Amino acid sequence: SVRAGIVVTGTEVLTGRIADQNGPWLSEELLELGVDVAHITICGDRPADLTAQLRFLAEQHVDLIVTSGGLGPTADDLTVATVAEFCGRELLLDPGLEEHIAAIIQRWRGVGFDVESGPTRAGIRKQALVPVGAAPVPPTGTAPGVVIPAAAGVPTIVVLPGPPGELQAMWPTAIATAAVADVLSRADDLRQATIRAYGLLEAELAETLRTAETAIPAFERLEITTCLRRGELDMVTRFAAADAPVYDALLDLLVEHHGRQIFSTDGSTVDDQLVAALDGRLISTAESCTGGLVAARLTDRPGSSAYVMGGVVSYSNDAKSDLLDVPAELIATHGAVSVEVAAAMAEGALTRFGTDIAVSTTGVAGPGGGTETKPVGTVCFGVALRGRPTVTVTRRFPGDRERVRSLTTTAALHLVVR
Ligand code: ATP
Ligand code: MG
Repeated sequence: SVRAGIVVTGTEVLTGRIADQNGPWLSEELLELGVDVAHITICGDRPADLTAQLRFLAEQHVDLIVTSGGLGPTADDLTVATVAEFCGRELLLDPGLEEHIAAIIQRWRGVGFDVESGPTRAGIRKQALVPVGAAPVPPTGTAPGVVIPAAAGVPTIVVLPGPPGELQAMWPTAIATAAVADVLSRADDLRQATIRAYGLLEAELAETLRTAETAIPAFERLEITTCLRRGELDMVTRFAAADAPVYDALLDLLVEHHGRQIFSTDGSTVDDQLVAALDGRLISTAESCTGGLVAARLTDRPGSSAYVMGGVVSYSNDAKSDLLDVPAELIATHGAVSVEVAAAMAEGALTRFGTDIAVSTTGVAGPGGGTETKPVGTVCFGVALRGRPTVTVTRRFPGDRERVRSLTTTAALHLVVR
C-alpha cells in the first residue's frame, strides 16, 4: 500500500495556541485517495526539528510526505529552505512566481502600496525560491507551495502553507502534479464506510466484534476504529474494494445483534436524517438547559431556513410562562424539570411558531441544582406534533455540564427523527 506522513509545523500549533486543522483535513483527503496515513506529527518552527521528522519518515519508507506551514515571507518561516536542504537541492529564484506574488500583493494592498520597497521585495523573493527540479504550487494567498519529486531515499514531498483555507485550495493542484500523481497511481482501491449507533455501549459493540472474528471469514482484513462522539458511537471501517463482501457480512451481523440502535449505515448523520424525517414540515424549539444548542445544531446546516422557524431559550420560569405559555401552576406543581413542563414548552413553541413539530429540553445540567429525585444529568424532553399527542421522555446523562448539554442536544435530535 501507499503510505504517507504528515508534518504540521508552527510553534503556535505546537503550543496549543491554535488547534491543528491541517493534519486531520489532509489525513481524510489522503484516505479518500487510498493512501494509508501512517503518521501525523506536529513540530515547531525550528528547522532542526522539521529535519528530524523528515528523516524519521524517510526511514519509515513512506511514499509521500505532506508538510503544512512556514511558507511566509518572514525569517521564521523556513520550511522550503529546510526541506530543500534535506533533499539536497539548491533553491532557485522563479521569476514568473516572483511576479505572480508581487501582483497578488499589489492587488491586495492597493495602488498606493510600493511592492518595490526593500523589505517587501525581499519577502517576495524569499517566497519565490523553488528547489531545483520541484514544481511550484501557485498561491491562493501569497505563499506558494512546492512539490519535490522522490529521489534516492527521499520520498515525494508536498510543501503547503499553514492557513487552512490556502492549504485546502492548493491541494487539488498539488496532487495533480506529476510527482504526486505517480505516487497516487500506486494506491489501493480502498473503501471507507461509517456505521453509527445510538444507545449502544462501546463494550457491547466490542462483544459483537469478538463474535465477528470467528463468525466472519477474513474478518481480520477489515480495519475498524470506533469513536464516541456527542453520545453516538461511530464505527469507521476501511477495507480493500475486493473485501466489500466481508464488510457486508459485518454489517448484517451488527444489524442482527443491535437492530435499531444502528441508526445509520450509509454515512448519514442524525442531522441529515432529521431533515429527511421532517420531509418539508416545519420545526421549532423550546430550550431550557441546552440554552439554544438544539437550535444552533438545527441551523448549522445551510438551507435550514426552509424548515427551522425559530426557537425560544426559556431559561427562567418567567420566560417559560411569558414566551411559551407554560402555566405557572404547572411549574409550581411539578417543577421546571418535569415531563409536564417539557410537554407544555414544546406545545407552546408549536403554537407560537406555527410549526408542525416542536422539541423541548428542560433539565439539570449541573454542577449544582440536583436533587434526590432529579439528580444532575436529569433531562426531560417534549416532542409536540400538530394534531397528535405530545411525546415526553426523561433521560439521565452522565458527565459534567458540557457533556450533559451535548448529550441532551444529540438526544433531542434523535427524538425528533424517531
Ligand atoms: P503565512 O504566509 O500566512 O505566514 P505560512 O505557511 O507561513 O503562511 P504559518 O505561518 O505556519 O503559515 O501559519 C499562518 C497562520 O495560519 C497561523 O498563524 C494560523 O492561524 C494558521 N495555521 C497554520 N497552521 C495551521 C494548522 N495546522 N491548523 C490551523 N491553522 C493553522
Ligand atoms: Mg508564517
